[in-house]
Amino acid sequence: MATKIIYFTVNGRPEQAEFPVDCPSQDVKDLFRAAAEAGPHDILKLYNTKGNIINISPQLAPNSPHSCYKLEVVAADCNSELLGSDLIIALGFDLSSMEKRLQSLEKRILTEAAETPAIVYEMKRQVESFREKLESVEHLSWLGLYKDMSDGTHKPSPFYHKRTLRKTREECEHVKEKFLQMSSLEVSLEVRQYLKTPTFDNWQWEDAEIMVLLQVMYTDLDFISTFNIELDVLQQFLYELYRRYNNIPFHNFKHCFCVTQMMYGLIWLTDLRSKMDSIDLLIMLTSAVCHDLDHTGYNNAYQINARTELALRYNDISPLENHHCAVAFEILEKTESNIFRNLSTEQFKRIREGIIKCILATDMTRHTEILNKFKALLPVFNFSNKDHRDVLMMIMIKVSDISNEARPMDVAEPWLDCLLQEFFNQSDMEKLEGLPVTPFMDRDKVTKPSSQTGFIRFVLFPLFTELANLFPCLEQHIIDPVRKALDYYTEMEKALEREKQNWAQSEKMVKPSTLKEPEARPEPGGTTKPVSL
Ligand SMILES: [Zn+2]
Repeated sequence: MATKIIYFTVNGRPEQAEFPVDCPSQDVKDLFRAAAEAGPHDILKLYNTKGNIINISPQLAPNSPHSCYKLEVVAADCNSELLGSDLIIALGFDLSSMEKRLQSLEKRILTEAAETPAIVYEMKRQVESFREKLESVEHLSWLGLYKDMSDGTHKPSPFYHKRTLRKTREECEHVKEKFLQMSSLEVSLEVRQYLKTPTFDNWQWEDAEIMVLLQVMYTDLDFISTFNIELDVLQQFLYELYRRYNNIPFHNFKHCFCVTQMMYGLIWLTDLRSKMDSIDLLIMLTSAVCHDLDHTGYNNAYQINARTELALRYNDISPLENHHCAVAFEILEKTESNIFRNLSTEQFKRIREGIIKCILATDMTRHTEILNKFKALLPVFNFSNKDHRDVLMMIMIKVSDISNEARPMDVAEPWLDCLLQEFFNQSDMEKLEGLPVTPFMDRDKVTKPSSQTGFIRFVLFPLFTELANLFPCLEQHIIDPVRKALDYYTEMEKALEREKQNWAQSEKMVKPSTLKEPEARPEPGGTTKPVSL
């Protein structure tokens, strides 16, 4: 009988396991359990060389002593159905109830003393640092990461991604220090001008520099002087934003910057400052920087199907966008990062309403509804009508959000790789968890060009064209590059198709008896469906 040898280390000790390829899953698990000297209820995890968890099963990909897997005993006697209460038992206290108590205490002190005392800040910092420590400790990933796939009855946990998702405190503090060191530098006029164009190349700027550029945007739109924003408050706000964007391939801090930079560029290109008041512009720019805060890399469909905490909290209604917005106002709740703190209650109310409207408009399931509203207004569009301006603001954040293809090809193409990486990660997870697989995210169905041609034709073009109908000057800046991108990906798609035919032809000639059915084409709707960004 054929056997398989798997090389791995446990506690730094090299081991190897040999088992028949068709033996039961449980036998393989027991084998690894014995090698790790683990008890019957202990939880084991096996990592490949990339650090990803792989299932302990007879299907394990064979490796060599040079590409050893790593076996870890991550928890003893853990019942995965009771993670929350286990955590409380393990810690000896309930972190979230402590946080809630702290919040209500702070509110009471605020109403009575009108200012948060330093001790509360200190306590908050301690809770936060403890939470971060917990979330970034790898061997505590059993808190939600471990999934036993053997009996098929597990419940998907909304927290499985936490291990690598959040930025560490060290990472944040390092970037903050760099940012503060650079923030007093005078940014050259050339860069300030370049920042106003859609050809801006984000890939040349690291995170601390990006924060400086965001500060330039708030300064050059005169927000600092108009709204009396203190520089240290703006810097703290930008730092909090940076901190609350996660380490994921696409919806990260760089995406936040690109969307904001496109919004900034559009404001200048369309000379919007002469048509709308500063508060509207402040709403637009701030919505853009906040629009994907704390994105976890899994879209709304996943949130809903996996019944995550977010989907439960927001009753399946735009869970992500509601969350991004709530996180934004959490940041703005803190006096030290509230860039609106010197505004009147009325002004704040208007800004809050505007930001909520804009961020919720980025849910692509509302694409047609919002676009149709805008189309209907176009013939009678009036900048002095608030309802008209509201729809325009929603359209502008939508355009900015999906504007990568309006950028030069060498800026746009790496973004598509990032997006597909995030999509494939989601569909892999959906397959693993037995959830419906989102067709345009399926690595078995989507290719780079196929993911773009339909999206550009049926989503990007119609949206961008309507905005250019209101501002004809945008034609050359955003429509022309998108047209070029469509030609580029159409050519690539044809080339891939030819390659596939050639391959099928040669297969037929070499092995006529083992010829497989040609791979199914993506469903027509699959790649053209609006993608939630
Ligand atoms: Zn986005």
